[in-house]
Amino acid sequence: MRARGPDGEIAYQCRWLVGADGAGSSVRSIIYPGLEPTPVFRALRTVHRVIDNSLDPAHVHFWPDPIGLLAWAHAWDDRLALGILRQEGEGISELHDRFIDSLEREHGVRLAPPDESADGRVLIGPAITNRYMPGCGRVLLTGEAAGFINPPLEGISTAISTGAKAGEAVARAHNVGVEPLKLYRELLAKEARACTDKWNPTRLLFGSPHEADLRAGFKALSQDAQHAVGGDLMRHMKTLKPYGWTRRSLWLGLIRFLTGRYPSGSWL
Ligand SMILES: Cc1cc2nc3c(=O)[nH]c(=O)nc-3n(C[C@H](O)[C@H](O)[C@H](O)COP(=O)(O)OP(=O)(O)OC[C@H]3O[C@@H](n4cnc5c(N)ncnc54)[C@H](O)[C@@H]3O)c2cc1C
Repeated sequence: MRARGPDGEIAYQCRWLVGADGAGSSVRSIIYPGLEPTPVFRALRTVHRVIDNSLDPAHVHFWPDPIGLLAWAHAWDDRLALGILRQEGEGISELHDRFIDSLEREHGVRLAPPDESADGRVLIGPAITNRYMPGCGRVLLTGEAAGFINPPLEGISTAISTGAKAGEAVARAHNVGVEPLKLYRELLAKEARACTDKWNPTRLLFGSPHEADLRAGFKALSQDAQHAVGGDLMRHMKTLKPYGWTRRSLWLGLIRFLTGRYPSGSWL
């Protein structure tokens, strides 16, 4: 096995390998040849000092298209964090600028230039479609390399937890002489279900997949606001259509609703 570091390539010999190389994982491309997940998305997030803000700082605010596949804003201490998600190659910086303009136009939000900015690849398809890639043979994948990411693009907690599970699977398998991948899949099952739940519309409507009580929040809204949220949810589902995810997502939700789990065989 070869790894690239600041001093060039290093060759390692190992019995098992854990690939934790993120959304664009080269380990994944090697062990799943021809199965490179598409489409690839990009996220851009900035943090700004607030000049004027009418958005409720107690909430995370989401907008579906046309601003981006998804755009969101939330308070970040005394500042505002803005994010946008779009398919790779679609001019995310310009869309982000348009997002800032629309916030000012429609919500009177005025912001200082960003004092923090981050962008990068994001792999949301596997979590939406419940097709994670836990690894093959002697290679285990963790975090975003395996397709784990929560909305709104929170991948750090799942990266830490799947990384710990991969380590545990290798250590336990080594001690008892079994293959780590089998153990890893068992350890991951709950995590995978929870991660897919967070993206699934039927779980959002009939379950309680997030720490926040979304249903109670929805019920507390005025009727007009409920209609607006319903319309946004429909628009969001439509934005998933070009990727062929809407039907699969609804079907997965139905199976989950009826049986309490996602269909077996979803694991690659
Ligand atoms: C703009 C943006 C904002 C985000 N904001 C949040 C947030 O607020 N909260 C949150 O929870 N998540 C956030 N995320 C998601 C989160 O960053 C990722 O889901 C998480 O970092 C994934 O962790 P990982 O360990 O799987 O992969 P990464 O964090 O991507 O780590 C992979 C590492 O592998 C290294 N690597 C890759 N290839 C090689 C190679 N060949 N040789 C050596 N090293 C290699 C990379 O350099 C990298 O350091 C955000 C993502 C983006 C793009």
